[in-house]
Amino acid sequence: MSTLPPLAARLRGVASSPVRDLLALLERPNVLSFAGGLPAPELFDLDGLREAYARVLAGPGARLALQYAPTEGNLELRTRVAERLTRRGLPTEPGDLLITTGSQQALTLVTTALLDPGAVVAVEEPTYLAALQSFQLAGARLVTVPGDEQGVDPDALADVVARHRPALFYTVPTFANPTGRTLPASRRAAVARIASAGGVRVVEDDPYGELRYRGAPVLPLASTSDDVFYLGSFSKIGAPGLRLGWVRSPADARPALVVAKQAADLHTSTIDQAAAAAYFGVADLDGHVARLQDAYRERRDAMIAALPGTLPPGSRWTDPDGGMFVWVRLPDGFDAASLLPTALAHDVAFVPGAPFYAGEPDRATLRLSFTTNTPDEIREGMRRLGAALGVHAAATT
Ligand code: PMP
Repeated sequence: MSTLPPLAARLRGVASSPVRDLLALLERPNVLSFAGGLPAPELFDLDGLREAYARVLAGPGARLALQYAPTEGNLELRTRVAERLTRRGLPTEPGDLLITTGSQQALTLVTTALLDPGAVVAVEEPTYLAALQSFQLAGARLVTVPGDEQGVDPDALADVVARHRPALFYTVPTFANPTGRTLPASRRAAVARIASAGGVRVVEDDPYGELRYRGAPVLPLASTSDDVFYLGSFSKIGAPGLRLGWVRSPADARPALVVAKQAADLHTSTIDQAAAAAYFGVADLDGHVARLQDAYRERRDAMIAALPGTLPPGSRWTDPDGGMFVWVRLPDGFDAASLLPTALAHDVAFVPGAPFYAGEPDRATLRLSFTTNTPDEIREGMRRLGAALGVHAAATT
């Protein structure tokens, strides 16, 4: 009997996302979960989306909306997205954009187009888990750039660029996953300067930018340099099940991205793109985003107000201006991963911070998402987490 060849070597060492694994565990009723980075389903604009799909399927373009379509994406959708980005201070033409199957695919395409095996990729520490997976799958070598409360430290980036000559720097500068931090404008300019002086491509991942609950918007990093790949998504302002995202890319890389997408899936779902384009026309998207902001602001406030009474003395946490996440650092000696079973026994969940680190993890960190629970549920969940932490502290001291 002949033996089958092994699985591809590039998959070795790429772990399944503990967040996705955890989501499976949380199917259990009664668990109040702060683990997943999900938008609140009760806030989806069901009526608006139903009308948009109905319009497409009842209109003269219905058959075309069910046909194969160009790889670059629906022109009307690209036009609407370009207008919205331009209004947010990032001047964009429809031709600058490629529609992708979620912004996760944009990440894969950029990775495929830019990285050879062994290429060096610089990432903030900690950073988005599935970006790390994507770079690891491409055979990249990851180097980390430290930061502080304001996000990545430009001096540290300059140092990493000089020492490691990365091909690419990946960053989530606005309401980051997992930390919730936002990079100030001055640092954005410095990052763009350092990257272009060092010949480093920048990938700005911005799925959360429109979910701002306080303060004035900060212009995208991409507005400071033509060399930046800007990734956007419909998942957080629309619905993630649509799997619609986009990449605004430098002109020289666009043909490569299109080829990579052809190989991946030919094009993103025609009907979903057409419905999203119609949605921009039929719905009041600004009004919808404002409703999301109001609801999420209240939820963030409930969590931030509860944390001092929940966490042991000496804990620290971020107080994000937007997005979905609060990043917690428990006192020295705590290990969030070993605390998780105790939390689950108290019917409350979070994500331990360690998997978000490409380098040496800080095991005392964890991520809390405030979007999918009401303020009352958040208060109850925090009470349970406090109880779990009390049990944990008693058990280990
Ligand atoms: N980037 C970041 C930083 C994210 O947090 C997420 C979703 N959790 C994505 C990209 C992917 O989003 P989507 O594919 O749904 O657009």
